[in-house]
Amino acid sequence: MPRIVIVGGGFAGVATAQALERAGRREPIAITLVNRQNFMLFTPMLPEAATGSIEARHILQPLRAALSGDTGLSGASSFELGEAVGVDLERRTVSTRHPLTHELKLIEYDELVLALGATDSAMGIPGVEKFTVPLKTIADAETLRDRVIGALEVAARTKDVLERDRLLRFVIVGGNFTGVELAGELQAFLRSTMRYYPSIDRTKVELVLLESSDKLLGHLPAKFGKYAASALVKRGARLLLGRAVSAVDPCGVELKDGARIESATVMWAAGEEPSSLAKQLGIKTNEHGAIETAGDFAVVGMPHVWALGDCAAVPRPGGGTYAPLAQNAIREGKLLASNIRARLRGKPTKNFRYQELGQMASLGDRRAVVELPGGGMLTGTLAWMVWRTYYLAQVPGWNQKTRVALDWTLAMAFPADMARMPLLDRNATSFENMHASRR
Ligand SMILES: Cc1cc2nc3c(=O)[nH]c(=O)nc-3n(C[C@H](O)[C@H](O)[C@H](O)COP(=O)(O)OP(=O)(O)OC[C@H]3O[C@@H](n4cnc5c(N)ncnc54)[C@H](O)[C@@H]3O)c2cc1C
Repeated sequence: MPRIVIVGGGFAGVATAQALERAGRREPIAITLVNRQNFMLFTPMLPEAATGSIEARHILQPLRAALSGDTGLSGASSFELGEAVGVDLERRTVSTRHPLTHELKLIEYDELVLALGATDSAMGIPGVEKFTVPLKTIADAETLRDRVIGALEVAARTKDVLERDRLLRFVIVGGNFTGVELAGELQAFLRSTMRYYPSIDRTKVELVLLESSDKLLGHLPAKFGKYAASALVKRGARLLLGRAVSAVDPCGVELKDGARIESATVMWAAGEEPSSLAKQLGIKTNEHGAIETAGDFAVVGMPHVWALGDCAAVPRPGGGTYAPLAQNAIREGKLLASNIRARLRGKPTKNFRYQELGQMASLGDRRAVVELPGGGMLTGTLAWMVWRTYYLAQVPGWNQKTRVALDWTLAMAFPADMARMPLLDRNATSFENMHASRR
């Protein structure tokens, strides 16, 4: 029975595993899904999880539940908690390290799928790694909320005017989808919590969105960025377009033009790069670090190895590669499953062809901007309803869908939860540590 090992349990890896499971009902396959956490993260709702309108746990799907465990006949699918640390292409084995026990384990494969995703990138800018909070993982979302609430708590008792202003200034670097959505959600969060801080003058709370290009939502036509900008500015955000960051320190941000913004909370939504594991394994990557594949996801020059999703540069017919989007990763996973089965049966594989559906960004306060097929733009509350309906449908599993829908309902009736979790205080980027490194 062919053994297929998938490394990475995000959108791409899970879509591949589930499509193989379905196909396995007709022919036996043994599938092993390896991931360094035992859940899959639904990233489109991270900004809401970071600002408390959704409970963070509700956007995690346990991977053991995502797999049915059965691939028909005598085949089976299984989940393996572990970090892939090496691949032996000759012996066809993957070595994994358990994140809790650190035990090493070898897993044999006939076909290997790399679905490693991407990580946030500091883009070589000094201080970014140490002094900013990214928004890529569930821990980032929790840390971010911890930092924002920590800044409000300290500001509430700070007499020094300059220091109080610094604490009440929240800077987001990066005006693409993550930065824009986070800005919208954070504005709504700050407004709903200010009533509990009577000693803070609300007009002093400032949200700054910094973007190095001259528009927001740069991958979409200019009108989308303009709408997002006006929605955020109307609600009081300060937009700095065409301004690039040169360094970050515990007191704030330095800009390339020499200007400085004092802030106790700098959030980083400016850069991502494909997982570096491929490079470590000696797999050929492009100039951005993405694994080079053929149109059918076969890794160039590596028999029995496939790659897809954010870690791969999958060629687009007509030139370029597919964008790092969940919607692409899911479609790629479905085709990859059928290509692997075709390869196992000695049949030809198919190249990936997909025209992305439009993109959309929520802007907080029941506003969104949606790209319609054909390039049209939908805005405002109707767009927000489309955003919610679409993404709720995408949340994996009825369990998670129900929890998210309940969170949204409760968030309409009650203010955002502003309790700080003391458990997070040990985190390197916690408010206390940042405050301490300043002194
Ligand atoms: C805040 C945010 C919002 C987004 N919103 C949208 C949106 O609205 N629409 C959209 O289309 N896209 C969106 N995206 C992009 C989308 O999340 C990615 O394109 C998608 O996650 C790519 O899927 P993937 O499976 O390739 O990678 P991932 O989902 O990142 O999964 C990779 C998995 O591999 C695991 N892994 C990595 N290395 C190893 C290893 N060595 N061993 C074991 N496991 C490993 C990782 O832990 C992870 O679980 C958003 C991204 C972010 C950060």
